Amino acid sequence: TGLRKYFPAGRRSLWGPACHVHAVDGVSFSLDRGETLSIVGESGCGKSTVGRSILRLTPPTGGEVRLDGERIDHLSAARLRPLRRRMQMVFQDPFSSLNPRLTVRDIIAEPIVNFGLARHRGELDERVARLLDTVRLPRDAAERRPHEFSGGQRQRIGIARALAPGAELIVCDEAVSALDVSVKAQIVNLLRDLQDELGLSLLFISHDLAVVEHLTHRVAVMYLGRIVEMASRDTLFATPRHPYTRALLSAVPVPDPLAARRRVVLSGDVPSPIDLPAGCRFRGRCPQAIARCATEDPVLRPAGPAGHLVACHLAGADDAPAG
Ligand code: SF4
Ligand code: MG
Repeated sequence: TGLRKYFPAGRRSLWGPACHVHAVDGVSFSLDRGETLSIVGESGCGKSTVGRSILRLTPPTGGEVRLDGERIDHLSAARLRPLRRRMQMVFQDPFSSLNPRLTVRDIIAEPIVNFGLARHRGELDERVARLLDTVRLPRDAAERRPHEFSGGQRQRIGIARALAPGAELIVCDEAVSALDVSVKAQIVNLLRDLQDELGLSLLFISHDLAVVEHLTHRVAVMYLGRIVEMASRDTLFATPRHPYTRALLSAVPVPDPLAARRRVVLSGDVPSPIDLPAGCRFRGRCPQAIARCATEDPVLRPAGPAGHLVACHLAGADDAPAG
């Protein structure tokens, strides 16, 4: 709720005030058990920082994070530790996020040992073997090292490591972005199956709307540190209301060329998250900007069916912008 993360960015002049990068600037959402919420936006929009702040890999500047109703954003490291078991991350790059010197057994066993979840070696080996089954890797993978595997297989190892301590919430930060198209689909399908089998909650962070369409229940679109549109997957893909979402969607290839969306090409640069413009942050790139957009910052508010939220002056409950 109201999550903020500002990074110090030095001073513009010796006596001037300290500047901050507003990486995350008031983000609120909830994620249910067994639900997938995707956070989508261009690089630098703050989506990774949201994921990292929730897991407290980086401490938030402000706002609240709750797990099952309990505030966790201000807990001491010691109080946070038992909760860490329940919240894990799968990173973008399975090549650099797995220690090349360790065997797959040791990589997957590490969190089990750290959290004291196995009583003896036999139990540990059995857990590792079952985790390999879970991510559809052969059990003899345990004896090998990460470099012996393909990118997709390595990401399966990363998922097994995240599941190892019994995670209920997994934050996937660009978890399939580095993979080839067909491998991407396999990992997306695996995550979807695992969610069904284990009742996982997934926060799926991606720059690519096309990828999230096949696994997500809801989508939050971020621009410059804020959520600009949030809706169920079906609503967002069928009736996007924010001009930025429409531009992102217009770049998603569709199988039927007759149904192709009119391509919206955004001009202009993303403003600096240090010198945020007055009014709407998307104004400089928005094909539909009106005078009011220069002065008034649009708030995220209901627009359309239940749960559809849009931060745009043109997207009131009944005045959908044309196009
Ligand atoms: Fe565009 Fe104005 Fe809507 Fe911002 S508020 S997205 S500038 S129309
Ligand atoms: Mg990122």
